[in-house]
Amino acid sequence: MLAIHHLDCISACPLGGRLMDGLSSSIFERGRLCCHCLLVETDMGLVLIDTGYGLRDFASPSSRLSGFFLRLMAPDFREEMTAVRQIEALGYQAEDVRHIVLTHLDFDHAGGLDDFPRATVHMMQTEREAAQLQKTWLDRQRFRPQQWSSRARWVTYAMRSGEPWYGFDCVRQLQGLPPEILMVPLEGHTLGHAGVAIGTPGDWLLMAGDAYFHHREMDLQHPSCTPGLRFYQTLMEKDRRARLSNQARLRTLKRNHGAAVRLLCAHDDIEFEQLAGRPVGTPAPAGMAASAMRRRRSPAVARG
Ligand SMILES: [Zn+2]
Repeated sequence: MLAIHHLDCISACPLGGRLMDGLSSSIFERGRLCCHCLLVETDMGLVLIDTGYGLRDFASPSSRLSGFFLRLMAPDFREEMTAVRQIEALGYQAEDVRHIVLTHLDFDHAGGLDDFPRATVHMMQTEREAAQLQKTWLDRQRFRPQQWSSRARWVTYAMRSGEPWYGFDCVRQLQGLPPEILMVPLEGHTLGHAGVAIGTPGDWLLMAGDAYFHHREMDLQHPSCTPGLRFYQTLMEKDRRARLSNQARLRTLKRNHGAAVRLLCAHDDIEFEQLAGRPVGTPAPAGMAASAMRRRRSPAVARG
């Protein structure tokens, strides 16, 4: 059985307030968008799905991130909200994270890689190539080589190979990971964007990353989005047709298999609070690591 922890790894406080999150009281105050990452306990060690911002982003934002996005998003930098500090609070150590699966390489998903030097990073090959090319001005603001260029241990996957899964093609198992963790290509927001599906005893959880931004976009009768997030998604999209068609496929998945697959995205506060059972902007409760994995550890690797 895979135990899943929900971590908000440093929320953004975007300009536009209510226009962005639909929850803030005005459009003149800054809004709040969580940065929803998942920590999965497996027989092969901890697996982190997206990293949020990391300690180095917290320590030196201007050397790591673009001024444009720092002004637009004003991340709520607090050390205790980084993935590594929350994982330590749960009762683990950074080395226990053996694998990181990235939905994509945007600055708010890949900033914590440096905090887990021993982990193998899994992502789509297309994403890595596009990020390295740095083709446009916006690419240079969103894809920050400071966060990932010096890193070893990558495993990348081709977009166009894999197996069918609930109406999606080319779904992949990941090297060295249990079969309950799958990569589901969902390109559009970026060229190599992918969701990550995690099998639980009762159903699947599909982390759709930035394939959509607001839970109402997955409403089956009247899909909608706040104006600010609609604008932001249009600004950031690398392939509009693919993005909108993948949103439609996710709604079809929900319609046809809603009992078998639960959807979540990376930046919706309502989804985070429902799944995590605590408010956005609060760290994982201390000492809550499911003890199963710690019990399974051999004495040689057990610490303390
Ligand atoms: Zn994002």
